[in-house]
Amino acid sequence: MAKQIIFIITLALTLGVFAYTVRRLYYFFRITKRFPIKNYAKRFWLMMNVSFLQTKIFRKPWIGFLHALVFWGFCVILLGSVEMIFDGLTGSERAFYMEGFFYKFIFASGDIFALIILFAIVVFIFRRLFLKIKRFSARELSHRNHIDAYVALSLILLLMVSLLAMNVFYCVENPVPLKGFYPISSFLAVYLKDMEHESAVILYELSWWWHILLIFLFANILPYSKHFHVFLSVPNTFFSRLDPLGKLPNMDTITKEIKLMMNPETAFATPESGTAVIERFGVKDVEDITWKNYFDSLCCTQCGRCSSVCPANLTGKKLSPRKIMMDVRARMNQKGPGIIKNGKDFDDGKSLLNNFINKEEIWACTTCNACAKECPVNINQPTLIVDLRRFLVMEESSAPSGLNLMFTNITNNGAPWQFSPEDRMNWAKDLKISCKYD
Ligand code: SF4
Ligand code: SF4
Repeated sequence: MAKQIIFIITLALTLGVFAYTVRRLYYFFRITKRFPIKNYAKRFWLMMNVSFLQTKIFRKPWIGFLHALVFWGFCVILLGSVEMIFDGLTGSERAFYMEGFFYKFIFASGDIFALIILFAIVVFIFRRLFLKIKRFSARELSHRNHIDAYVALSLILLLMVSLLAMNVFYCVENPVPLKGFYPISSFLAVYLKDMEHESAVILYELSWWWHILLIFLFANILPYSKHFHVFLSVPNTFFSRLDPLGKLPNMDTITKEIKLMMNPETAFATPESGTAVIERFGVKDVEDITWKNYFDSLCCTQCGRCSSVCPANLTGKKLSPRKIMMDVRARMNQKGPGIIKNGKDFDDGKSLLNNFINKEEIWACTTCNACAKECPVNINQPTLIVDLRRFLVMEESSAPSGLNLMFTNITNNGAPWQFSPEDRMNWAKDLKISCKYD
């Protein structure tokens, strides 16, 4: 009973802190703009493909495979964690136990995966510490980012050690019946076969608490860390942008205006056209981004795969698509509380554009979409970059000089070139071909 009471208090504290975090994020999301979600069936299959089958991560086969094993292992071990919470609340032991294959299979898988994850995390830490991997030493990664990564990896490592310890002492304790099957732990338990039964019971209880407290700590640290993707990567793939990567989104209101200019008759067909009040063209600050942009930023694992394939980054330009995502998250953390407290007109004299992301970065983007294609959690960076540019062009008339010339040509000639439309076919004048164009 005492165990139950302590567990309930601990769980209540954990949920209380977690609820505070969720509430804070909810208010941040309310600051952002709409991003319509349709086509649920297609999204579901995309999520299964990218998240559960981990298809994109295999582009780097070895390390990708290790990461995929960690993900699948977490899915299996999660079932055991749910059972532990149920046990803690009800005072039962192994409440989901059932005779037969299924329970044994799940817990045997969890036991094996614990060892695999342990091995994978040691490899991940070793890579970060001793291999000079370029994407882990980019300039946008601060000391704090590196510490964040090590803290999360160490927590996962401890989680797996505590899980294995719990299973080992459970096997040493050897209750009748032994609920579940633990191939790794029962092998290790052989080395402790001389341990007294009472000691095994106490050590099992201690490792049980060690493991569950780490789970609670982990759940509350994750939302403030780059490892928030542990929670968010699956839904983020569900909310992926479904348009072909090369298709840049237009602003509906502007599209209608252009159509009206080109064919005024449509003014009568769509009387509502052009009447919407546009508060902002493009993105200047966090209140201009969509909730999906913000979700992307929370989900970013800072893996740097996007930047490692970005042609601008590879050729020494300042642009790093990873940094764009990190900046969105950092800026929301900076400005979000002020907006929540003072309302949406709150101004702290800074903005995402200029104070976090500068013009040089966003104009270096070729919109090739290599970053979006590479991202293992389907984050879409180029659409946000285009929206930042849209603000500069449409609200500040601040485009690079080469583009300004092109804009003038489009206005005057209906084409990006400096020639009259009447002269367009001059090149074919002396050729014996007949051409017709409207
Ligand atoms: S779309 Fe832009 S940011 Fe992304 S890889 Fe291409 S150049 Fe880099
Ligand atoms: S945007 Fe995607 S690929 Fe780039 S660092 Fe974040 S998770 Fe990795």
